[in-house]
Amino acid sequence: KNANGKYTVTMIEGDGIGVEISQAVKDIYAAAGVPIEWEPVDVTPIIKDGRTAIPDVAIESINRNLVALKGPLATPVGKGHVSLNLTLRRTFNLFANVRPCKSIEGCATAYDNVDTVLIRENTEGEYSGIEHVVVPGVVQSIKLITRPACERVIRYAFQYAQSIGKTRVLVVHKASIMKMSDGLFLKTAQDIAKEFPDIKLESEILDNTCLRMVTDPEPYKPVVMVMPNLYGDILSDMCSGLIGGLGLTPSGNMGDKVSIFEAVHGSAPDIAGKGLANPTALLLSSMMMLRHMKLNEYADKIESAILATLASGPANITRDLKGTASTKHYTEQVISRL
Ligand code: NAD
Repeated sequence: KNANGKYTVTMIEGDGIGVEISQAVKDIYAAAGVPIEWEPVDVTPIIKDGRTAIPDVAIESINRNLVALKGPLATPVGKGHVSLNLTLRRTFNLFANVRPCKSIEGCATAYDNVDTVLIRENTEGEYSGIEHVVVPGVVQSIKLITRPACERVIRYAFQYAQSIGKTRVLVVHKASIMKMSDGLFLKTAQDIAKEFPDIKLESEILDNTCLRMVTDPEPYKPVVMVMPNLYGDILSDMCSGLIGGLGLTPSGNMGDKVSIFEAVHGSAPDIAGKGLANPTALLLSSMMMLRHMKLNEYADKIESAILATLASGPANITRDLKGTASTKHYTEQVISRL
């Protein structure tokens, strides 16, 4: 807590619609009386020693506050910058990407019974970025899997399952083909499972998980899924689709020390500045943040208002959800239901 008795949280508004959806969060938090003071930081990348880096003031702010809420960042194309999202993950060692996926009333999809959690290893695997040309016309890309990285994300998955009352951890893998790399991930899970006798460990082959989940999401309700980077990237978007799309899906990037909560969608340049953006994903990400900070009563209050607004019909929801509301109208509706 700071001198005013409030918690200071770093706010990265982000690009495009980031400004509009961050404003919605700030307005709703002010109306709900959440004891948070936002510390806005600019993360426009700088080049330091020939590498893309985050400005020091932003790093200091996040290290000081330990918690940040982040809007989408547009990745500049062809300017020599690597993705800033990747840079943030590396800078703060954000090893686990957590994505709860739960059906929302009023946002109709093929299923109304989705309620699962996906945890993606966030630092290595297929996205290690180790690629080279062997001879012209032949390239090699290295999938790096290390036991320490497996251990920390799998242990986190078990702890997360315990904390939210889920009874099973499901490792999603392709150890049938990638016997050594995914094999190590799976073997590590079997070892870690011994530390958590009250949680059941299961495993499933990735393609089977995709098929089964889109056929019937019900069996995945008691489950926290955990998997290597690439599988998590793809499967998490599939899960988003099952609940109504990226405009509704929250996420948290968890590290040893720092956590950064963010919507999974991008900066939506096509609608930026028009007052049409749906702030729900960033809002729900901030609910994860509040619960992480043990401010559950505020999270429960705001979440109920969000869900009641989404269920209240097309006049109060945004266009991406087939409604007619502006960002401002939606925000006012949430505030009126607090
Ligand atoms: P996008 O998610 O920005 O947009 C895809 C489509 O979804 C667009 O039609 C957009 O209007 C719509 N959309 C997305 N979020 C919405 C919301 N909250 N409300 C209403 N509609 C929404 O994906 P893109 O166009 O591929 O990427 C645009 C930029 O965002 C790129 O520079 C990309 O690098 C960046 N990006 C950033 C992140 C991140 O910061 N985590 C994630 C993905 C993409």
